[in-house]
Amino acid sequence: MEENFLKKSYQSKSGKKYWPTIGLEIHAELKTNSKMFCSCKNDPFNSKPNENICEICTAQPGALPYVNYEAVKKVLKVGKALSGKIADFSEFDRKNYFYPDMPKAYQISQYKYPLISGGNLANSPITRIHLEEDTASSSHKGEYSYVDFNRAGVPLMELVTEPEIKNSDHASFFAKELQLLLRTLDVSGANLEKGEMRIEANVSISEHENKENNPEFFGTKTEVKNLNSFKIVQSAIEYEIQRQIEVLEKGEKVDQETRGWDENKAKTFSQRKKENSEDYRYFPDPDIPKYKLSEISEFSEKEISENLPELPLEKRERYFNSFSLKAEDVEFFLQNPEYDKIFEKASLNFSENKKAFSLLSNYLTSDIAGIMKKENSLEKLKNFSAENMTKIISMILEGKISSRGAKDILIELFERSGDAEKIAGDKNLIQSSDEGELEKIVQEIATQFPDQVQKFKAGDENLLKFFMGQAMKKTGGSANPQILTEIFKKIL
Ligand SMILES: [Zn+2]
Repeated sequence: MEENFLKKSYQSKSGKKYWPTIGLEIHAELKTNSKMFCSCKNDPFNSKPNENICEICTAQPGALPYVNYEAVKKVLKVGKALSGKIADFSEFDRKNYFYPDMPKAYQISQYKYPLISGGNLANSPITRIHLEEDTASSSHKGEYSYVDFNRAGVPLMELVTEPEIKNSDHASFFAKELQLLLRTLDVSGANLEKGEMRIEANVSISEHENKENNPEFFGTKTEVKNLNSFKIVQSAIEYEIQRQIEVLEKGEKVDQETRGWDENKAKTFSQRKKENSEDYRYFPDPDIPKYKLSEISEFSEKEISENLPELPLEKRERYFNSFSLKAEDVEFFLQNPEYDKIFEKASLNFSENKKAFSLLSNYLTSDIAGIMKKENSLEKLKNFSAENMTKIISMILEGKISSRGAKDILIELFERSGDAEKIAGDKNLIQSSDEGELEKIVQEIATQFPDQVQKFKAGDENLLKFFMGQAMKKTGGSANPQILTEIFKKIL
């Protein structure tokens, strides 16, 4: 993963230099049992349309919302993991605007008192994290539009960064790191294609490199929405920077607006002129009590800190230090917790043996991941249990099997499961390392081919291959080649 946190300048055709400023707003649907303000099931992807709805999430007269503590706790977890400050006082506000998929004509969100302030991720400062509710989802077929309220009221976390992201690589890196963190904390599926995580980028450009002493540093920003892959985050920001440069170069002004991303044309396009926050007429929701978080035992900061799992940064450090793994392998394990569990468990059997760790990591991240690609599920990964992997690595280290043999065992495990040692025996993959026996065979070959021995002794090293071939024939390919080579060199 590239970590490019440097400022980048862009030169226009006229030779002027511009510096971009990027801020991100990232929404993530939280994994909770029920919705944010009612007890409907939070399961928008596996339900029939309008299956999980009630009078609260469809805004029937007189229905009163109540706060889902599980969702609050999940946001506090994220905040704590990012070293943000947990609010002492918090409240929910109404954000007023009309949208067909929002039956109340307002969204319950947080304005003045977000749950989390500050924090840092991927070398970028975070402004705030607050909690709100998702809208319903609408679809359009022919002349009809359909609204599904299963998603209405699903808890949604919004994280806002400071406008201090320096370039598009950095923006996409930030989003990837956030996804990894949300998954590690098990607070969100954070799947971009499903819309569980949604990224918006605020982009502006300036003729000044630094904001210090430059009141006009921040140009007019545009907000680019619907960036549903990390690649698109990067392309859309790059496009937007170039577009804004062209606007300024023509002597025009950049409009403050919301823009979408057209993947086919690889272009951003204008959606609507951007509202200011005053336009939403935020005010505290009179139906929801205000909170003194420190007075609610479930939100105890101490308990939340103590129950955080090992964070990605901590895991990276531990894997580099304890196992000396390659950076790509460490990232693979971070992104693939099922493989990581096998690695963690099997590695316990090889204390401080760097060779063993590297072999184990290699087989998991390359051979096994490759074999598993044939399947859509991870079901068969259990065939490569920590016990089996420990046996395979031990047999290699003891010279009992070759790396070719190990690969055969992996394929057999994938296809039929079983025990790695038993497979090695059944398939005759155990190499003979009995030196006495191998010496005897070498002597036999030496008597059988005296001419070749003469030439070999005279310096024709190529004949070693010939001798090895003969020995392999005699042993049915089961001789340990390293030991065999040594014996040939010793005796001849
Ligand atoms: Zn409901």
